[in-house]
Amino acid sequence: MSAALPLPPGSTIGILGAGQLGRMMAMAASQLGYHTISYAPPGDNVAADSCAQLFERSWSDTGALGDFAQNCDIVTWEFENVPLSAVAAIPQDRLAPLPRALEVAQDRLNEKRFVEELGATCAPYMRVESDEDFTRAMERVGTPGILKTVRDGYDGKGQWRVASAHEAAGIRFPGRACVYEGMVDFDTECSVILVRSRGGEVRFWDSTANAHEGGMLVTSTLPAGPLVEEHVGSARAIAEKVAHALGYVGVLCLEFFATKQGPIFNEMAPRVHNSGHWTIEGAATSQFENHIRAICGLPLGETTTRFAQIEMHNIVGEAALRAHEILSEPGEPHLHLYGKREAREGRKMGHVTRVSLSAE
Ligand code: AMP
Repeated sequence: MSAALPLPPGSTIGILGAGQLGRMMAMAASQLGYHTISYAPPGDNVAADSCAQLFERSWSDTGALGDFAQNCDIVTWEFENVPLSAVAAIPQDRLAPLPRALEVAQDRLNEKRFVEELGATCAPYMRVESDEDFTRAMERVGTPGILKTVRDGYDGKGQWRVASAHEAAGIRFPGRACVYEGMVDFDTECSVILVRSRGGEVRFWDSTANAHEGGMLVTSTLPAGPLVEEHVGSARAIAEKVAHALGYVGVLCLEFFATKQGPIFNEMAPRVHNSGHWTIEGAATSQFENHIRAICGLPLGETTTRFAQIEMHNIVGEAALRAHEILSEPGEPHLHLYGKREAREGRKMGHVTRVSLSAE
């Protein structure tokens, strides 16, 4: 039976996935008087620190998924690659957002077609399923470009940059469906993060300028600069259409390349997003709290920015071992460490958000 909304305090929210996003989501849920339990395959499931219970079972264990759902009034996710078969084992009236958002976002080609139909511009692209396709795609789309697996890529994984057709000779087609995209000559990257309520109300946070290294987000900064500010209206219009078309409930992120010709859509994440971590201290209501409010049928919180300058910086790999040094910095450094056991290279271990009331 579906839960009565708004979900009363003391109810239980289930989170599929148990990484740092689930950990921060669970913290926001506890503040609002909810219990959380999470479900993820065995691993460094750091959300367990802030959840009452962790079901550490495989995505194919439909029995365990059913037991998990039995214990939840509402189920959401923090990870967009939860297999659809696992989501199907959860009673659909208990899920928020709806699985359609995962279906679209788990396949880069589906996702591009979906947003294009709603009026977005993407980099030129072609589906690639063989070495011959790859050669043809480089001829048609041109170089430089980037080959990406259609499924399961994140943080620059499952991607190969191609400077020239000559260099591509050294890249072996990975043997799974890919998309080849033309490289966009952008000024900066930016993201639109919105929350949509069950009643269809949409609120946006300010869009940050996002810098990536090796495909992974390094910093998100506000103010984002004139180019992002000039084009954010059209990027928001697309994001809002996507949210309505999916009947979306919760926090949704769309990433764009900001160019002088306007925003070029890169990808979407049907979940809270790394480029929205600054909202914990920097906005009136954080992305985590508004996600919980939305799925639980509570009124949405204000999304206004509270500082003149904000920078969120990811703490990656061994930098986490020295991260407590940040606490002695002057000003307001807000340090978040995710409690991961091993500081492996290229692994997101935490973040720091530095805020300032004055614009320098
Ligand atoms: P993605 O996983 O698709 O978000 O790619 C990770 C990062 O790689 C992006 O945030 C960009 O910094 C870079 N990137 C991906 N696709 C392109 C592209 N078509 N043109 C330029 N840079 C790209």
